[in-house]
Amino acid sequence: MKSMKVLIVDDDVDSLAIARLRLKKDGYIIESAGGGEEGLNKAREDIPDLILLDVQMPGRNGYEVCEELKSDPELCNIPIIFLSAADDISEKVKGLDLGAVDYVTKPFDIFELRARVRAALRTKRLQDLLLIYSEVDSLTEIYNRRVLMERLQQEWDRNLRSIGAFSFIMADIDRFKRVNDTYGHPIGDVVLEKIAYILKHSIRSGDIVGRYGGEEFGIIMVNSTAEEACVASGRYRHAIELTVFKSKKEEFSVTVSFGVANSTGMNSVTELVSAADSALYKAKESGRNMVCSAV
Ligand code: GH3
Ligand code: MG
Ligand code: MG
Repeated sequence: MKSMKVLIVDDDVDSLAIARLRLKKDGYIIESAGGGEEGLNKAREDIPDLILLDVQMPGRNGYEVCEELKSDPELCNIPIIFLSAADDISEKVKGLDLGAVDYVTKPFDIFELRARVRAALRTKRLQDLLLIYSEVDSLTEIYNRRVLMERLQQEWDRNLRSIGAFSFIMADIDRFKRVNDTYGHPIGDVVLEKIAYILKHSIRSGDIVGRYGGEEFGIIMVNSTAEEACVASGRYRHAIELTVFKSKKEEFSVTVSFGVANSTGMNSVTELVSAADSALYKAKESGRNMVCSAV
């Protein structure tokens, strides 16, 4: 299991040193910051799994830092444990209401602190797992349709702010029903996994591939013209056609058809997807194992 990262934000040098030393022995990767602003910067630089946050600090205090963390979509899921010298119930209530998972009063008992850190990280691990299960298709281990469509909408919104045109590519395995009928469903599943793997490892970094449906995949190619997306699709098509699968009966290969559409001139995401779908249909009609572009 990978080591969890804990960020300690505390202006009290002694308390920071004790927590740092003891938690490091528990196998966590420890980062520390001596103030609120520095803590926020460190959290943004390398997102931790847990933040221990002192309340009373000069400059931005712990409550302010917590509010800022909770309002940032990238950082809002990091659990926070407040550390405070104040043993006042209303202070604890305030900290928890701001979204912290726990509150420990200083001077802390190191055994208690370690146990609370373990508890917070147990929940964080489950939360991370749930997020993965909700975003990734379990068979192919690429994004599921919901995430693919969300990313497509995000790219569309970015494009409206003139970041650059992008392409949407739809890919559908040719005569896949025949693969299942001839070699059986489990081999069909292997083919799906392998094709997803090839696509995932062939796209450029920044591009996104997801499972659109049963044997259909969607690829978002950022900053690209339709021509570039056609060239890329040609490479994917070729890599797949060269891949050899083995069944008990024989070795075989499969082909995939591609439909490409570019965001330029489109009025909505729906129109873009529909154009890619029509181009894919054209590729199927024209004989399969080819790339067609929307006109
Ligand atoms: P075309 O070239 O026109 O796309 O023909 P096709 O046979 O690929 O298309 P069709 O839509 O008739 O069949 C798709 C098949 O994909 C049928 C379905 O059983 C299979 N399929 C969908 N999801 C899965 C899956 O998760 N595993 C397996 N093994 N097969 C799947
Ligand atoms: Mg098909
Ligand atoms: Mg299909």
